[in-house]
Amino acid sequence: MALPGEDDWKRRVIERAKELDHEHRRRIRGDLPSNAKRVLSLRMVRRVLRQLVVRPRRTEAREVPHPAPGAIAVTFVGHASAMLTTCRARVLVDPFLGDFLLGVRRREAACLAAADAADASLVLISHAHRDHLHLPTLRQLPRRAMVVLPPRCEPLVRSLQFARVVELPPGQSLEHGDVEVTAVAARHDGRRGLIDRAWRPSNGYIVKCAGANVYCAGDTAYFSGFEEIGQRLHPDVALLPIAGYEPPSLREDHMSPLDAIQAFVDLGAKLLVPVAYGAFPLGYEPIDEPVSWLTDLCREHGLLDRLAVLRPGETCQVHGREGA
Ligand SMILES: [Zn+2]
Repeated sequence: MALPGEDDWKRRVIERAKELDHEHRRRIRGDLPSNAKRVLSLRMVRRVLRQLVVRPRRTEAREVPHPAPGAIAVTFVGHASAMLTTCRARVLVDPFLGDFLLGVRRREAACLAAADAADASLVLISHAHRDHLHLPTLRQLPRRAMVVLPPRCEPLVRSLQFARVVELPPGQSLEHGDVEVTAVAARHDGRRGLIDRAWRPSNGYIVKCAGANVYCAGDTAYFSGFEEIGQRLHPDVALLPIAGYEPPSLREDHMSPLDAIQAFVDLGAKLLVPVAYGAFPLGYEPIDEPVSWLTDLCREHGLLDRLAVLRPGETCQVHGREGA
């Protein structure tokens, strides 16, 4: 039996998803020939081959100091990796420092100071895909760090012998230093590879410190959970993935900039920090398209002052409601 108002809510969510599908269909380039799929995949292969001979762009990494109590420094490390620095904790989210992913060279190198990597006290892994759970990067991190992952992922890091490894199902929280971490659901197939039969799920995480909440979505498609996360956990900053949306079937697991804007509105967050773009071609779309489309959408919807596009290594600060 449906709860009071549940039918309305479901209808609203379904309608919203339909509208997003419609907007994406409308946007599909009308000038592509009937063999569009082949043309687009050839374009992607050309891009991958070009990246193989061009070295990744590198930015010199600068150390990010621990902020005063009551603030969180949010640093974009590159691709899907981020660093959250508080007065007492250094949190790495999906750290991936390598230059190659499954043989594909990245276009922009990760940017993280060695001293900051060595200072990591907590590592959050959203799912087992190799650009999120990257064993060579984890091997570089201090073993005293705590590692948090979704259920059924602990065996993947067991041999690294971190001080503490916790599988955190959605809805559960843990405390670490001055931060509280809550795992939330994501819509993304988190299997390690095609032959991985472990059915590993994907998490998002809310990191709370002194009343400031940072939401790290990991990889996810647009789904009804954003509204619930917004109502329950009130994220101030949302780190949302924006690439890997062409062909449209990829939107089963990823978000386009248009999906990300809707997710941002559903979440009720104050600041949108896009992630998971610019390093690897995740879909057929041009590698520079996600961030320019997102910027255009934010301009159109009057949200430009709430968008923070960070370069690898760049940091913005969030201040908690509880203050210093
Ligand atoms: Zn993924």
